Amino acid sequence: MPSAHPYRWWGMYEPTVSEVPLRDRDKPVVLSGSALDQLANTCSLQWFLGREVKADAPATAAQGFGNVVHVLADEVASGRTPADLDVLMARLDSVWDALAFDAPWKSAQEKEHARVALERFLQWHVDSNGARGTRTPVASEHGFDVTLEAGPYEVRVRGSMDRVEQDAEGRAYVVDFKTGKQAPSAAEVARHPQLAVYQLAVREGAADEAFGGVRPEPGGAELVQLRQGAAKKNGGDTLPKVQAQEPLSGDWIGDLLATAAGKVLDERFTPTTGQHCTHCAFRASCSARPEGRQVVE
Ligand code: SF4
Repeated sequence: MPSAHPYRWWGMYEPTVSEVPLRDRDKPVVLSGSALDQLANTCSLQWFLGREVKADAPATAAQGFGNVVHVLADEVASGRTPADLDVLMARLDSVWDALAFDAPWKSAQEKEHARVALERFLQWHVDSNGARGTRTPVASEHGFDVTLEAGPYEVRVRGSMDRVEQDAEGRAYVVDFKTGKQAPSAAEVARHPQLAVYQLAVREGAADEAFGGVRPEPGGAELVQLRQGAAKKNGGDTLPKVQAQEPLSGDWIGDLLATAAGKVLDERFTPTTGQHCTHCAFRASCSARPEGRQVVE
C-alpha cells in the first residue's frame, strides 16, 4: 500500500512559504476579465491553481468547439468569409475532425450543435429588426491592453473583445460570444465582471482605434449565447439568447478590481466553496472539500 506510507501524509508537513513574491508590488497587477470573476466572486484558490500554477487539465473538446465557432464568427465579421450558412458549414467540415472527442457519436452530436450555433450566429449577424438594427460593427477580435486605477492598486487588463459595435448615439457597444452550456442569471449579467471590464476598458481608450482615434463613451455590453435559443418573445430558437448589461453606474466594478488585485498581491488564495466546485479540477487537493481534506489532516 504505497499510498499509506508516512511520506504521503501531507498533513504532517509544516506549511511552506515561497520566498519569491507572486507579483512585483511596484507594477500593475495583470488580470483578465474572467480571472476577475474567479478571484473576486467565486474561488481564488481555483484561480491560483488553474491560472498561476497552470495545473488545469489540458484543453477539452468543449474549448475546441468554442474556438472554432469564435474563429468562424470573426471571419464573417471581418468579411473574410461570406455570411452564408453553406460556406460556413464547409469551413466547419474542414476543421472539425481535428478536434479530439471521446467517441465518434460525440463528435457527430457536437458538430450538430456547432451547426445550430453558427446558424444562430448568422441570424443574429444579419438581423436588422432587433436591437442590433441600430448598431454597426466597427471591430472584431479587438485586442486591448489598458491600465485601470482600482483603489490603492493599478490593474492592467489585457484581452480581446469578440465584437465592438457603434450604437445609434455613437457609443461603443461590446459583444461577447459564449458557447458554453450554462448562462448566467439576469442579476449576474447586471454585475458580470467581464462585460463590466470591457466597458471600463472602452472608457480608458480600448476602442479609440476602432472609432477613428476619438474616444467613445461605453454604451453597454452583451453576452450572445450561441448554444441557447432566444425566448419566443425575442425571436425564438433560431436567434441566440442575448443577455445585455447596461452602461456602468456606481463603483462596484472598481471595488471588484481592487479586491481581486489585493488578493493577488497579498497571496490570499482561500478556497471558497459553491456551485463552481462541481466542475473544479482541484477537488482532490482542496482542503475545503471532503475529497481533499487529507491535504491538511
Ligand atoms: S473545489 Fe471548490 S473551493 Fe476547492 S478550489 Fe475548487 S472551486 Fe475552490
